[in-house]
Amino acid sequence: DLTHGAILYLDDITVSFDGFRALNQLSLSIGAGELRCIIGPNGAGKTTLMDVITGKTRPDAGQAWFGSTIDLLRLSESRIAQAGIGRKFQKPTVYEQLTVFENLELALKADRRVRASLWFRLGAEQLDRIGEVLALIHLKDQAQRIAGLLSHGQKQWLEIGMLLMQDPQLLLLDEPVAGMTDEETERTAELFLSLQGRHSLVVVEHDMKFIDALTRGSGPAKRVTVLHEGSVLAEGTLAEVQANDKVVEVYLGR
Ligand code: ADP
Repeated sequence: DLTHGAILYLDDITVSFDGFRALNQLSLSIGAGELRCIIGPNGAGKTTLMDVITGKTRPDAGQAWFGSTIDLLRLSESRIAQAGIGRKFQKPTVYEQLTVFENLELALKADRRVRASLWFRLGAEQLDRIGEVLALIHLKDQAQRIAGLLSHGQKQWLEIGMLLMQDPQLLLLDEPVAGMTDEETERTAELFLSLQGRHSLVVVEHDMKFIDALTRGSGPAKRVTVLHEGSVLAEGTLAEVQANDKVVEVYLGR
């Protein structure tokens, strides 16, 4: 098994746009239950990497495995989502006119594995799961609130909650704390740390304070991967990559 038990295993991935290599022989392995932060300057290839994992962009070369049996390069974008990879884009997209509860209910019913019709009454188990997710995303006392009235940070949490209704094994989060207040950022770090284990998380982020909060927490060690010019420049703990000469040069040497 070449994936060595990884939940996500990318090997030698190259993506070219008109001859320009957005990803250049990139290899990356994420362990089951791991929380990984991905950083890198603008244009490093972070978005392209997420696009490859979710099937939005097809690489010219390389391999991409989800677990040891699912070849991501053979699956459509929707099949990849159904297989258990959830992606959160930077901007929140919730149903503004519906309540927080109704947003989660819709997300649950949209899950093909549930196969509940939109008119179907939720069962006790499903109601429990919604309650559990409401508590995780800090919106238990806002369940009947219209989503459009939530703060920016609360909308972001609600969207994460909607992803959680499908219980994805792997969550990809693109700059999840952009535009959040310091307090919201802190609570988002808590949320992600509580998700780690049951889910694997890949967090693309610029906010070093947030990465520090995520990687400082107790529990299993969290690693940071630094992308540069479409490849992995460095990988290690936050302290290790911050002390890496090549990383310092990329961030400060221009
Ligand atoms: P990041 O998310 O780290 O800022 P991207 O993955 O968005 O980096 O982009 C990596 C490089 O690939 C950039 O130089 C960008 O201009 C280029 N790129 C990304 N998508 C396309 C595209 N569809 N067509 C042409 N060039 C692209």
